[in-house]
Amino acid sequence: MIDSVTDDRVAASLVSGWGRASPSAARVVTVRSRRHLEELVVGAGRSATPVLARGLGRSYGDAAQCAGGMVLDCTPLGAIAIEDLDEGIVRVEGGVSLDALLREVVPRGWFVPVTPGTAHVTVGGAIAADVHGKNHHRDGAFGSYVQRIELVTPSGGVEVAPASDPELFWATLGGMGLTGAIAEADVRLHRIETSRMLVDTVRARDLDECMEKLSDSDASYRYSVAWVDCAARGSRLGRSVLSLGDHAALSDLPAADRAKALDYRPSGGIGVPFAPPVNLVQPMAIAAANELWYRKARLHRAGELQSLASFFYPLDAVRDWNRLYGPRGFTQYQFVVPFGAEETVRTVIELLQAARLTPSLAVLKRFGKADPGPMSFPSAGWTLALDIALSARDVAPVLDRLDDVVADAQGRVYLAKDGRLRPELLREMYPRLEEWLAVRARVDPTGVFVSDQWRRVGASER
Ligand SMILES: Cc1cc2nc3c(=O)[nH]c(=O)nc-3n(C[C@H](O)[C@H](O)[C@H](O)COP(=O)(O)OP(=O)(O)OC[C@H]3O[C@@H](n4cnc5c(N)ncnc54)[C@H](O)[C@@H]3O)c2cc1C
Repeated sequence: MIDSVTDDRVAASLVSGWGRASPSAARVVTVRSRRHLEELVVGAGRSATPVLARGLGRSYGDAAQCAGGMVLDCTPLGAIAIEDLDEGIVRVEGGVSLDALLREVVPRGWFVPVTPGTAHVTVGGAIAADVHGKNHHRDGAFGSYVQRIELVTPSGGVEVAPASDPELFWATLGGMGLTGAIAEADVRLHRIETSRMLVDTVRARDLDECMEKLSDSDASYRYSVAWVDCAARGSRLGRSVLSLGDHAALSDLPAADRAKALDYRPSGGIGVPFAPPVNLVQPMAIAAANELWYRKARLHRAGELQSLASFFYPLDAVRDWNRLYGPRGFTQYQFVVPFGAEETVRTVIELLQAARLTPSLAVLKRFGKADPGPMSFPSAGWTLALDIALSARDVAPVLDRLDDVVADAQGRVYLAKDGRLRPELLREMYPRLEEWLAVRARVDPTGVFVSDQWRRVGASER
């Protein structure tokens, strides 16, 4: 969120992440063109002004903030070139949102290869966080589909591809904007016959059954995810509703719908008109909503046709829903632990329950093989993402405890969601940090690119 958008000459604005928890003031400059971006970045290098590219601000914490420096609003970089679409390659500027891209490519029979749970992220943000989707177990992260990046560093623009400079390319995937500003990228898309999803919905009684069913579904479903009821305790701990699906083929649609097989209707509609003065997402309401959600899902529902928007982006149906958490905001605690560390997932839920912190949303997924990026978050194992209001007292020590439990299990937290990790844990969670630091030092030796997050967790690493 940016309180007011300014131009090059205007004073600082308050900038925060999606969780609205720790805003900081920076000069926000609207990038008018790729040339303008290069002027700004090179100028920042010359004047040693801290700088950071920003997309749609969907990272939850302080990764897209740069207190006292210059935040480059890259969203006007919105060009989409579809000349090579027959080959499934699209050339996009860094500020293009997945939403805008899908409006162009779905009617032509293509889908993004990997998508996060919202379409309101930019290609620059997706690359910087090397985002993952419900298909990671099968298709990997976003980086696997990026063929070329035009990166702007303090010494100017540079073309980066996995073959030409693999170190810089992979340091940029998951590099959280700290290797430069992404001006443009070539992305390989996924061919689809329809804009519908064929979905099976399955209930699981507890965490063991949930994990077993998710594991069993790896081979048969491209997309899988479990919505876990973290209010359920004891023998019901981890009870969940699994959503398993793939793109529907033309032959899956009723004959009457086939003429409009590739129609795309994005999510949208109602919004939260103002920020309430208190957190409206309360534990009792969460527990009741979870109960309803679990009961509503029948034991097994097979072969249901859903739109792309309702399968991938249910949260996008309500605009600005993050405001519901009130002035203190919220965080999403997302971690991954390797296969074999299943008990850590249970321990995390139990620790939250013991502290009476009920996540308003909990999503469990399986990750497949990691990307080569040294700072890329996904690696083979279980990932749990938990939305937690920051209005309750004593959240910080509980989350610190979770970090220790996750680190002990050789796991890590996701920097795109983080706003509070302690610096001493960064190296433990990201053991290839050194490799990444060497690349960063090559392209940005004085550390002009910097974020509040990096100052908090990484500054001591330079
Ligand atoms: C509802 C919701 C669901 C989500 N689900 C998922 C999910 O399933 N999987 C997942 O992986 N993530 C998920 N996310 C997180 C989101 O995908 C990432 O935080 C993504 O980076 C946000 O993109 P953005 O354009 O909003 O970037 P911002 O939040 O603006 O920035 C994020 C980072 O990218 C950098 N950056 C942005 N643009 C550029 C650029 N042009 N050049 C260089 N660096 C840049 C910034 O410096 C910052 O470090 C979700 C977020 C929300 C709100």
